[in-house]
Amino acid sequence: MKQSNDVLSGFGTTVFEVMSKLAIQHKAINLGQGFPDEDGPEDIRAMAAKGLMDGPNQYPPMMGTAELRQAVTDANHRFYGIAVEPDSGVLVTSGATEALNDCLMALINPGDEVVLLEPLYDCYLPLVLRAGGIVKSVRLDPPHWGLQKDRLDAAFSEKTKLVLLNNPMNPTGKVFTLSELELLAEYVQKYDAYAVCDEVYEHIVFGLNRHIPLATLPGMGDRTVRIGSAGKTFSLTGWKVGYVTGAEELIAKIAKAHQFVTFTTPPALQNAVAFGLGKDDEFYQNLKDSMQHKRDFIKNGLQSIGFETADCDGTYFINADINSIGFEGTDEEFCKKITTEAGVAAVPVSAFYASEGAKTNFVRFCFCKREEVLSEAIERLDQFFKAN
Ligand code: PMP
Ligand code: GLN
Repeated sequence: MKQSNDVLSGFGTTVFEVMSKLAIQHKAINLGQGFPDEDGPEDIRAMAAKGLMDGPNQYPPMMGTAELRQAVTDANHRFYGIAVEPDSGVLVTSGATEALNDCLMALINPGDEVVLLEPLYDCYLPLVLRAGGIVKSVRLDPPHWGLQKDRLDAAFSEKTKLVLLNNPMNPTGKVFTLSELELLAEYVQKYDAYAVCDEVYEHIVFGLNRHIPLATLPGMGDRTVRIGSAGKTFSLTGWKVGYVTGAEELIAKIAKAHQFVTFTTPPALQNAVAFGLGKDDEFYQNLKDSMQHKRDFIKNGLQSIGFETADCDGTYFINADINSIGFEGTDEEFCKKITTEAGVAAVPVSAFYASEGAKTNFVRFCFCKREEVLSEAIERLDQFFKAN
């Protein structure tokens, strides 16, 4: 048989699938893959159910239903003062994953350089490579995940086509500061590049931190696209409804990819998400508060066992240093051990690096779970490390 695609055949099964499977096998509490254990608002789900029964159930417009495009436009204005055109500046996709694929397919020519910040979300590397991009990594180090200028100097060049920025960032839990974003914007403009911003955790930001879209910085509006996902904002990760916003010219290029990838997304889900985006400030505040509470709970629990934890200002994830409790193997070995022997699954942070020589002494715990589940997980880990 002839060989299949070289890029994809070089990748194994994603770490999320591998660890979730192992967690099921060993009846472990799954703090690996990032998904909430409580479904999002009932009224949003009820609206989707009604939409399925009442219709329409045929192909909606390729760019997304009018309701959702208007709701995304309104949300951009409401939360960030960003003006986008509902008819030409919004593209609805089947999740942020499709949006990422569409943006990368549409913007990259084989041989273009793409700046990726490490550790990176797992689909970035295969999608960039499959599109023919050449990866230039900018590594952020635990525990503070600062963005360093000398690393940007080394990564950006005249050949840079785009930077892919995940903010708030998975797996680090980092929320980029205004001065870091200003620095990045300087490089993007200096090299006349695009910025593709994966902002799926835009509403999950803690304390005094604020989510600042790179698109709002001077000179960035026309060269930046912003990706959001209903999965994270409404705790409905299985729905796979995403949206890309940006200048008309850029969205038109990205729609060229979308039309050949999924073309559309289920209309009942789109309209339910449109309703959800209009929820009042209390809903968004509760989402932040409840996630922050879970972050505090797991952080205190991990620290009480003896783990040092890295900074975490947003997202579903917190990272713990395995050396700090005396474990000397790799992060992968650690995750396998706690899944099979302690009954708690996590994911190794080394799975999120594109380049060699990554730190392998951090593991990621997902905390978007009910408090009793987090409590049981901490208890199991505590017992395990006391006995071992
Ligand atoms: N980007 C990041 C950073 C994510 O963590 C995820 C996954 N949860 C996605 C994109 C994918 O989002 P979706 O499920 O909407 O495709
Ligand atoms: N985004 C989720 C995570 O980081 C997982 C999504 C997936 O399984 N592809 O854990």
